[in-house]
Amino acid sequence: MEMNNQKRRRSMFLYIIIAVAIMLALNQSWTMFQRQSIKEVTYSEFLTMVQQNKVRDVDLNTGTGKIAFTDGEQGKEGTTTYETTLFPNDDGLVPLLQQHEVNFKAEIPDQSNDLWIYMLLSYGIPIGIMVFFGWRLNRRMKKAAEDGDDPSMNFGGGFGGFGMGGLGRSGAKIVGEKETGVTFADVAGQDEAKESLQEIASFLENPQKYSEIGARCPRGALLVGPPGTGKTLLAKAVAGEAKVPFFQISGSEFVEMFVGRGAAKVRDLFKQANEKAPCIVFIDEIDTVGKRRDGALTTNDEREQTLNQLLTEMDGFDNNKGIVVLGATNMPDTLDQALTRPGRFDRRIPVELPDLAGREAILKIHANDVKMERGIDLSAVARATPGASGADLANMINEAALRAVRMGHRLVTQDDLIESVDVVIAGEKKKSTVLNEHEKQVVAYHETGHAIVAASQKGSAPVSKITIVPRTSGALGFTMQVDEDEHFLTTTSEMRNKIAVLCGGRAAEELIFGEATNGASNDIEKATHIARAMVTQYGMTEKFGMVALGQQRNRYLGGTTDLTCSEGTAEAVDQEVQRLVEEGHKTALDTLRAHRFKLHEISRYLQRKETITGEEFMRIFTRDDGFAPNLPKQA
Ligand code: ADP
Ligand code: MG
Ligand code: ZN
Repeated sequence: MEMNNQKRRRSMFLYIIIAVAIMLALNQSWTMFQRQSIKEVTYSEFLTMVQQNKVRDVDLNTGTGKIAFTDGEQGKEGTTTYETTLFPNDDGLVPLLQQHEVNFKAEIPDQSNDLWIYMLLSYGIPIGIMVFFGWRLNRRMKKAAEDGDDPSMNFGGGFGGFGMGGLGRSGAKIVGEKETGVTFADVAGQDEAKESLQEIASFLENPQKYSEIGARCPRGALLVGPPGTGKTLLAKAVAGEAKVPFFQISGSEFVEMFVGRGAAKVRDLFKQANEKAPCIVFIDEIDTVGKRRDGALTTNDEREQTLNQLLTEMDGFDNNKGIVVLGATNMPDTLDQALTRPGRFDRRIPVELPDLAGREAILKIHANDVKMERGIDLSAVARATPGASGADLANMINEAALRAVRMGHRLVTQDDLIESVDVVIAGEKKKSTVLNEHEKQVVAYHETGHAIVAASQKGSAPVSKITIVPRTSGALGFTMQVDEDEHFLTTTSEMRNKIAVLCGGRAAEELIFGEATNGASNDIEKATHIARAMVTQYGMTEKFGMVALGQQRNRYLGGTTDLTCSEGTAEAVDQEVQRLVEEGHKTALDTLRAHRFKLHEISRYLQRKETITGEEFMRIFTRDDGFAPNLPKQA
């Protein structure tokens, strides 16, 4: 209680400071606004103006000693209001004003009245506002403490948007059982994860059943996987299935704002959870607090304290009460081992990118939310989107619906959907990027280069689309390949082929224009990435054989490999990577040389049409022109 009061006072203090700052700013700008329209002059200038008959009305305030005067009718356009300070004891002023027929009057402030208003304006209102906000804050906090509401929400009407939520308390969003409203039926695919979580859900639904037998349910489970695969969704679904409250907080929220608050937040969070058990505490982005504490070089006391508190709380709570802590991360390898010890996050639940069937299922779930034409082919979209996460797919459906509205369709059409795939993969069409004719030509040859290399390989995914419409992602065009079905293994030759296809764009530029552009940087990056993985991870080169030369990190965020070999070997690895990419480049050049005429023809066609389908491409590419291309030897 002591703690809470102190916190409350501290946050009240903060709001008071903010209120005062706003008042001052308002006051300042009001004064400035008024000042703008008033011209200040010296007393002698004022007298001169009177003598020159330039003054019409004079208004003397004996209280402040200010003289306001105008050079014309007040309020009329062209009339300027001046201000000067009365020279003390100037007996000649009144006769002078009379002589020049100036209207003049004096204002003698009614001391008692005006002063009172002045005081009210300058002190009373701000204090009133402060008291009001303080009262609101207090009330909300009390209310929050009573019914476990989130004090950060809708606070004071306007203040909520300042991100000041949870000043006093942990800021964990508490969603009552009816409000998560998510069940396993809302999560498509991810069957293994659901199975694993089902047990937790049934434990939460009926903790006694478990404790009677003496079974101990896991205290915590860690959902690991790439971003957007439905980790948060799954955690909510567990709460929804078990019909228990759901406390959600993001790791980054722990480490924010005030030093020393993280640990207090954790304590607070678990206190709330204890009151509402059985329930789920969900800690998103747990890697932000749970980073390994190895390197003594970069200690972060704040984070460490928070982590320690988290560990203490997880050890401390009574398991039979039914609190399950779920964590989510896409960097599991950076987590502190203390977190993954038995009794803490001892279950690890992989939430991987969806496969073909999973993608189609996810699309179906989200398609239910929008009105679609009959006979929409969602599986075509699923096939075109390997590597897309659940969030990407949900986004595609939404983009399609947005496009449908833009185009004035009453239902979402297949075209809307196909266009939205491009939008999510490559960004919106960018109208502001206008390529000149030459650039357009270069991009057309580049993309056709990729497509021809791909199409002339056996076993490469068929080309489904080529476009040279610039995208907001920065891509000036792209070539899309879509596999009929999904592979789970990739052979050495398939990887080599992929590298060659990636080199196809640059190769076409070199072949036709004799010079490279910077348009291939993304291709180069991807090709190098594949080649490096072949050498260091997959043991696909004769030179090194089946030796792991590196350790993979950040598997869920693209993946990087830290070499674990000697410096000499590292150099040899670089050479090997270079050789693989160079080989692909050569294959691409040879292929394009052999299909030179097709390259010209398709590029011109593409320049004219800007976007062509895989069928259009293949029709030209496979058309028999009466002579066989001089094909290179297959590697
Ligand atoms: P993560 O927490 O793994 O980054 P989220 O759970 O926040 O991903 O997913 C973001 C959104 O993507 C969800 O709200 C949902 O709309 C969609 N989504 C992701 N995975 C799935 C899935 N398996 N089934 C249905 N929708 C999904
Ligand atoms: Mg998430
Ligand atoms: Zn390219």
